[in-house]
Amino acid sequence: MTFIETYTYYRQILIFHRYFVNLMEDIYKVGEKTMKDYQITVHNQEETFSMAQTFSKFLREGDAIALEGDLGAGKTTFTKGLAKGLGINKNISSPTFTIIKEYKGIFPLYHMDVYRLKDSMEDLGFDEYFHGDGITVIEWAHIIQDQLPEQFLTIEIKFVDLTTRQFLFKPVGIRYEQLCEEFFHEYFSN
Ligand code: ADP
Ligand code: MG
Repeated sequence: MTFIETYTYYRQILIFHRYFVNLMEDIYKVGEKTMKDYQITVHNQEETFSMAQTFSKFLREGDAIALEGDLGAGKTTFTKGLAKGLGINKNISSPTFTIIKEYKGIFPLYHMDVYRLKDSMEDLGFDEYFHGDGITVIEWAHIIQDQLPEQFLTIEIKFVDLTTRQFLFKPVGIRYEQLCEEFFHEYFSN
């Protein structure tokens, strides 16, 4: 190899290396943006309730909220606070046996608990609810994963200790990214 050939060879390697590093940095930045953390830690049941109540103010018709978390995590408690925020004064109970319950508020609230569908492929016409003029809250939503709308907000509830819970908001789609931005901005500015 002549000197000039060797030079060109290493120069190309260097250029490729730079290109590769830039590419990785871009991917990493994109990753950072979409992986944005929306977390809230609450210390008791009342705090879950009032957080959900505040959250409900940012909802609008057609919104779908997927609640995840083990039994006793606080999915129904969260839904109760949300319902209160929507001006619903009726007692909200876990609709385990009915699967879907409807309430009249500022917007209609469709409260689903799909746990009982765990081992069945039943479709109870969920689509109609998602395309309706109400707000849908689904406990154990991953069980009907294939029937969820294109965009929705997952809220994962994790046990920290007996009364402390961590809420993880995971938006799917631009509507819910905006919703999280707005809600978190408001929630942490007080
Ligand atoms: P899920 O619907 O996820 O099964 P529930 O909301 O029905 O859960 O029940 C939650 C239980 O945990 C209630 O008994 C409630 O008193 C208790 N709890 C303790 N701390 C909290 C908290 N920070 N948020 C919500 N519930 C809590
Ligand atoms: Mg429940």
